Formats: sequence, C-alpha cells, structure tokens
Amino acid sequence: MQHFKMLINGAWTEAADGRRLDSMDPFTGEVWATIPRAGAADVEAAVDAAARALKAPAWREIAPSARAALMRKLADLIPPHAEMLADMETSDNGKLLSSTRGEVMALVKTFNYFAGLADKIEGIVAPAEFPGTLAYAQYEPIGVVAVIAPWNSPLLIAANKIANALAAGCTVVVKPSEFTSASTLAFARLFEEAGFPPGVVNVVTGTGPETGEALVTHPAVAKIQFTGGTETGRRINTMAASSFKRVVLELGGKSPNVVFDDCDLDAAIKGAILGIFTSSGQSCISGSRLLVQRNIHDRFVARLVEATRDVQLGDPRSASTQIGPISTAPQFHRIVSMLEQAQTEGAEAAMGGKAAANGLQFIEPTILINVHNDMTIAREEIFGPVLSVIPFEDEADAVRIANDTNYGLAAGVWTLDMARAFRMIKAIEAGTVWINTYRILSSTMPSTGYKESGLGSENGQRNIFNFLKPKSIYLNHGSRVSVPFLPESG
Ligand code: NDP
Repeated sequence: MQHFKMLINGAWTEAADGRRLDSMDPFTGEVWATIPRAGAADVEAAVDAAARALKAPAWREIAPSARAALMRKLADLIPPHAEMLADMETSDNGKLLSSTRGEVMALVKTFNYFAGLADKIEGIVAPAEFPGTLAYAQYEPIGVVAVIAPWNSPLLIAANKIANALAAGCTVVVKPSEFTSASTLAFARLFEEAGFPPGVVNVVTGTGPETGEALVTHPAVAKIQFTGGTETGRRINTMAASSFKRVVLELGGKSPNVVFDDCDLDAAIKGAILGIFTSSGQSCISGSRLLVQRNIHDRFVARLVEATRDVQLGDPRSASTQIGPISTAPQFHRIVSMLEQAQTEGAEAAMGGKAAANGLQFIEPTILINVHNDMTIAREEIFGPVLSVIPFEDEADAVRIANDTNYGLAAGVWTLDMARAFRMIKAIEAGTVWINTYRILSSTMPSTGYKESGLGSENGQRNIFNFLKPKSIYLNHGSRVSVPFLPESG
C-alpha cells in the first residue's frame, strides 16, 4: 500500500484536515494507494503558491533558454522513471501496461517539443503610425493555469497541459481525477529533481465537486485547461465566466469512422479495431460509430467479428492481454446499462453485448448491428469497448450521418479515392480527421473539438499564444505631447 502526499509550494503535504481517499486497482478490485482529499484551504494554499511563484524572480526573471533547459532536464528524467510511472497508471486505471508505457514515454517528446517553444516567444513592432513613437507589444504569461484531468489517460493529459503552460512561463495547479492521482503525484517529484522553483508546479488531489470547483472558482486562477465529460465542461465554463477566466475544454466525442467500398479492406478492419477497442474503448477519440457502405456492410461485419472474436481479456500487466478492465465502477455500470438499452431499442449484438462472465469489471468487446443514428447508443458517448455499426448508401449519406451528432471531436475515413478523401475532409465537422489511419496524435498539431466536443484548442506551435497575454507599449522617444486645448510648449 502506498500513501501519497500533495505538492504545494515545493512541500509534500497532507490535506489540512487530514482527509484521504482510496485508489482502487480496477483489475484486482483492491485498494492499492491512498491520496489526500484536498479542501478549499488546500486549494487556496496551492493557488497562492502558484501566484507567488509567478512573480518570484526565480521564475519570472529566468531566461527563456534556461526555462527551456529545465523542461529538457525534466524530459531526460522521464525514461529512468517510466516503468514506475506506467505501473502506477495501470494500477489506477487498469490500462494495459504496454499502453501506459507508451503514454509515459510520449511525454519525453512533448516536453522537448514545448521546451523548443519556450525561447521563441517573440513580440511585435507595429508600423510607425505616430512619428516619434515606438509602438510594440510584448507577450507575458497569462498567469496561474488550473489543469483538470480525467482518469482515462491521467498523466498523458495532465503533463501535456503542464508542458503547454510552462513553455509560456505560466505556473500551474493540477487536479487529477480522484480515481487516478498517483501517477501525477509521482511525476511531480521530477519537477523538483529537474530544479523547477517551488510553487511553479503544484498538485492537489480530491473530488471534482469539492477540490475541482474550489480551483475553478478561485479568483487568482487565470486559465482553466480541462479534459473530461461534456456536462462537467459545461458547468466549469459557466462557473468560470463570472470571473472572466480563459477556459479550454477538451470534451467527449461520438466519432464516426467511415468505411467506403473502395477502401483497402484489410487496413479498414484494423482501423475499426484500433478505433474502438484500444484502452477498452475508454478514449474520447474512439471511433464508436462505424459507418459502413451498405454494399460491403455484411462482409465487413463478418470479417470484423472474425478478427476480434478471440481477443484476450485479462490482467493488464500480462503481455498476452489485449483488453483490460473498465477503469471505474460507475463507468462499468453505465456501459452495462447503455448496452441493455441499446438492445431494447433494437440493436443486435453481432459479438459481445454484455459484461464479461469473469466476475470482474470487464465488458465483452461488442459489435452492435441494426443501429440507427437516432438510437441512444449512437448519440451518447459510451466510453467502453462497444462499436455501433451503421450502414450508409453513398457519400452524401455518409456525411449526413457522420455530422448528425452533438459532438465533433474526431473522424476516420477509409477510401483509396483521394478526391473523395479531400471532399470528406471538407465536409466532416470534427477537430481531427484521419484518412486511412486512426488514433495517431502529436503535440505538434493543434487539437480541438467542434460543437459540444470542446472549446478552444491545445498543442501545436501557435497555441503558445493562448497561454500569453499581449501588452501594447507606445513609447514616446521625442515627439511633442499635444493637447488640443492647451498651448504648445517646448
Ligand atoms: P469528468 O468530467 O467527471 O471528470 C474530469 C475531471 O474533472 C476529473 O478530474 C474530475 O474530478 C473533475 N471534475 C468533475 N466534476 C468537476 C467539477 N464540478 N468541477 C471541477 N472539476 C470537476 O469526466 P470523467 O473523468 O468521469 O471522464 C468521463 C468522461 O470524460 C467520458 O465519458 C468522456 O466524455 C470525457 N473524456 C473526454 C476526454 C477528451 O479528451 N475529450 C478524455 C477523457 C474523458 P473527479 O474525477 O475527481 O471527480
């Protein structure tokens, strides 16, 4: 059993009132760690530390190249700790160890990439509109950034937001999900080891409604970087509005993965599987609506069932396991009930369709047919290994069904006709579109959600300016100051 503490102002601390929460391993069903349960006083201390660090010379006056060097040092510290971090992540959310290893190592590239931006923040000098005056703008860190992350890829999502913020010279207070805080707390030790000044990175742990809301409503927080559910995002946006905070929301999805009859069928089968069964479907970008052209529908579904029939469920630490448990008990029960409702509404399970018979928190990999786009299963995010197959007639029909959703996070298109691919890119309403591939993502690319999938964007070179605020300076270096009703002097 491990007992974690929070990081506030460079000190490892308990909650002020001593409360703790358990972290459960979703595979064993046992409590493997405990974390502090932060209340308003702890959040106050963390935000105060971040606000003071923002103004302290150790961070405010640091040369951009030195800030970049700290971030590169942090990147160098990840590989020796990667196994430990990946193992904690698997203990917390049950993701395959092979996946959590990949997620942790991806952070090396992320921190190096954002380190590269830290010393390339350039201001502007505007054309000389007023003689004798220099007009220029410099960019300053926006302030304290609150990072709120979910349980499905806790460290990957939180650390990515931290890297965006630090590159711009901001300071951060992170609140991981109460279900999956361990890896973020362990990762925070690396900031100390790399030499970041105290208070630049703080981590508070606790529940969303208590710890999360205290952070969102704190007046000294300038920006909120959130990933999670659409309803939580809506609430956060409303709460943040009254204090004019910048809000970036990465929310849910119901992404269409569109298979045309002219595609490379072998590749599309792999794309459909990659789209839905990775991370047991607990991914916002899951291709949970598989749109298949009607003339290949039956053949495609038969091949898909054949390819996934023998998928191995089991211990996420075992190399032979292909699908792990569902991360949290509430999520597990939600999936079971959505599956029941789908079958009541007329969907038919070509494979799976219920909880696995192993008595653990597992869902059978499921392929549902006879799904119409207006059924609940096709409209609401399920966040589980459940694929809804929907037939379409032609390109126009595919576009209509693909866009008939409140979400717009991602989409896949499988076709060998490049003219069609470009038409689909233009027609699909989603922040990310994959052509003949699925799921690949990079911090070098902007990510955003259309419609109810998000607000604002993260990642990519230009996004650094979303963590900065301009200050415009008009510097008079010689012209007279003239006031219409005062006599000229000098
Ligand atoms: P939530 O929206 O419930 O939680 C996300 C984060 O917000 C957690 O840290 C949570 O804390 C916190 N939180 C919850 N309520 C509040 C609140 N009132 N104020 C401030 N913070 C709050 O999502 P889940 O973690 O339950 O994830 C499930 C859903 O999130 C999925 O169904 C999917 O829709 C979406 N999701 C989207 C992703 C994306 O990249 N777009 C990625 C992952 C998930 P705590 O967990 O402690 O309650």
